[in-house]
Amino acid sequence: MTSTCRHCGSALEVSFCNLGMSPFANSLIEQQHSSAAEKHYPLELFVCSSCLLVQLDEFETPDAIFSNYSYFSSFSDTWVAHAKRYVEKVCDEYKFDQRSQVVEIASNDGYLLKEFVRRNIPALGVEPAVNVAKVAQEAGVPTINKFFGRSLARELVEQGLSADLVIANNVLAHVPDLSDFVSGFKILLKPTGVLTIEFPHLLRLMEGVQFDTVYHEHFSYFSFFAAEKLMASHGLQIFDVEKLETHGGSLRLYVTHQERSVSQGAAIRLLREEELRAGLLSIDGYRKFPELVRTARRELLRFLLDAEENGKMVVGYGAPAKAVTLLSYCGVGPDLLKFTVDRSPHKQGRLLPGSRLPIYAPDRIREAKPDYILIFPWNIKDEIIDQLSFARSWGAKFIVPIPEVAIIP
Ligand SMILES: [Zn+2]
Repeated sequence: MTSTCRHCGSALEVSFCNLGMSPFANSLIEQQHSSAAEKHYPLELFVCSSCLLVQLDEFETPDAIFSNYSYFSSFSDTWVAHAKRYVEKVCDEYKFDQRSQVVEIASNDGYLLKEFVRRNIPALGVEPAVNVAKVAQEAGVPTINKFFGRSLARELVEQGLSADLVIANNVLAHVPDLSDFVSGFKILLKPTGVLTIEFPHLLRLMEGVQFDTVYHEHFSYFSFFAAEKLMASHGLQIFDVEKLETHGGSLRLYVTHQERSVSQGAAIRLLREEELRAGLLSIDGYRKFPELVRTARRELLRFLLDAEENGKMVVGYGAPAKAVTLLSYCGVGPDLLKFTVDRSPHKQGRLLPGSRLPIYAPDRIREAKPDYILIFPWNIKDEIIDQLSFARSWGAKFIVPIPEVAIIP
């Protein structure tokens, strides 16, 4: 089967990372369906030899994937604090007031837009997941329950709504039709408008062997190089970039219309050089990744098997999509890892897809007194270790699974 690149249309021939067959990572299973069959889909990334965009094939319509999305941003303290700092920064820089218009794409439960609403800056959220959009509306954040793209952007502009600021955090990867989506930005932005985009940086994914961030809902994985090409092909230019520690290492791009004459920040030149040195500008730079992934799996399995042999109990913390990819690729079930816990009541009482690990409330850790706690959302491990510091009273240790198994006493 030869698919084509979702940006430039070239044939996809070079495999970047093959994780076998995996279920949809965000479709948690209800307890009463615990013995029902489950669909698995190939989870393999390709890198386009022409534009170097790393990407996955699309196997089901986004409707089927996102209609029962259970990720609520407000359940991560780190993430909410990150959002507050962002709002302070852009309000300071661009002097938004009650005549401005902010639009956030994939606004989730309104955790970020709430900060604009509090400052009396008109804000509109666009969020396709019905259950999540409803939470935002109830919190006083105007939210449209639709997918973003060219047609919604036109609709909004026709209603007299153009944006001074468009925010797109961690959504670009989820977009099946990149052209339709990015040209929506071009339409929605006022002539002097600014777009900020955050996404996990492919360079950091490769350096940190973060293969568990690969899942079916994540169609594209961007280097700065690939993102810049994508923006340019829709009349947009990147004029600044920041490195962020979120999601294992992200980039925040500052983008505006190509027609505007703006000076480019020095950070852009430095980042281009960094990606060049790391080999991201040629197809050969992508060929060493598969072996790093296989090594990470061997190490994790060795640790879990040793723990079992020595009668040690290992449990998980968190039920993010990452957990599903990690467990499914490594073939780990409740025999090696008893259960996981999550702060989100929407996840508690359900089972992880694939491994069928039960998800409990965090208190379960106090009762079970495990020897090891494997932290699935390693991107917020400091926050989690803080929350779980009580587990040290019986000598529990924390485990971070990648890039290699690390034991934190
Ligand atoms: Zn391409």
